[in-house]
Amino acid sequence: MKALVFGCTGQDGSLLSRSLLRQGYEVVGISRSSNPNLSIHLALGIAGSLEIVTGDLCDFREMLELVTRQQPDEIYNLAAQSSVGLSFRQPVDTFNSIINGTINLLEVARFAGYQGRIYFAGSSEIFGNTAQPADAQTRRYPLSPYAIAKDASFNTVQVYRQAYGLNCVTGVLFNHESPYRSATFVTRKIVDGALACKRNRGYRLSLGNLQVARDWGWAEEYVEAMQVILRAEHLQDQVICTGRMQTLEYFVARVFSVLDLDWQAHVDIQESLLRPSEILQSQGNPEPMLRCHGWQASIDVDGVIDRLVAQART
Ligand code: NAP
Repeated sequence: MKALVFGCTGQDGSLLSRSLLRQGYEVVGISRSSNPNLSIHLALGIAGSLEIVTGDLCDFREMLELVTRQQPDEIYNLAAQSSVGLSFRQPVDTFNSIINGTINLLEVARFAGYQGRIYFAGSSEIFGNTAQPADAQTRRYPLSPYAIAKDASFNTVQVYRQAYGLNCVTGVLFNHESPYRSATFVTRKIVDGALACKRNRGYRLSLGNLQVARDWGWAEEYVEAMQVILRAEHLQDQVICTGRMQTLEYFVARVFSVLDLDWQAHVDIQESLLRPSEILQSQGNPEPMLRCHGWQASIDVDGVIDRLVAQART
């Protein structure tokens, strides 16, 4: 079996590639860069185990040639400008990477008569604030350029599946973490900041709104769920989540307490870190994944925090 992984150098692309390689897949990763950052591959011990091809997901001819030449069984589209915060500052790049990339890949698949399967990495940001735990049928209220792009791509994947019979599906991912998150994400910033406070009691950590609440899971588990969704007999969009929601304050307090520190003695709230529009609560409904695929997350927010701190300390 062969898989193409777009966004192969990121957190999920790297963990997914490792999982596929362990199953005996031939993995071809696509990166925009001719000199890709392989730091996560090196950390995971997979550098050199997958072929890396330089490519632009938005280039029709290039992607057509790639898909036709590689003839993959599975395609995972994880490439994106993936930061919600950055999407307010770089909305055009965010739209291009997500909407144009997704529709280009689907058009290539349609034009080439591609019979394999295509997974799209959706995001829980499409729901905005969740009044109830959200599933793939829940009404959507995107509140950022990133969420608008993910929402449009989710719709596009549905249209191509229904109108053209393409084997494409979206897994709508709630937040998921690992030690391989980039330093721009708040969870990584909190863990790194707390460790800095442990080393230097005078260190101050600046954060934005601590009352936002999220449904946090463990990335290694979520890349398994992507494959479950993609390989299902009947393709159905699904939400990937734990079903448990906690505030950022809870996250901060637990990280500091694992390190035997009082977070209130070290954390400053900075107005400048508040977003133009912020999702206050985001929670998924894990029941459809359990009912349809027998899959459920086994690591919730407490397990995520404990693992992040333990791995950052080593
Ligand atoms: P990530 O670490 O940021 O990796 C994304 C990869 O996409 C990067 O390694 C990069 O690869 C490529 N990329 C970055 N900017 C791009 C741009 N402007 N245009 C085209 N490609 C670009 O993200 P991740 O956490 O692994 O997430 C994987 C996917 O899941 C993303 O689509 C993300 O939006 C989605 N998602 C993630 C979460 C989460 O909690 N992690 C939650 C919901 C959805 P190259 O530089 O090598 O090209």
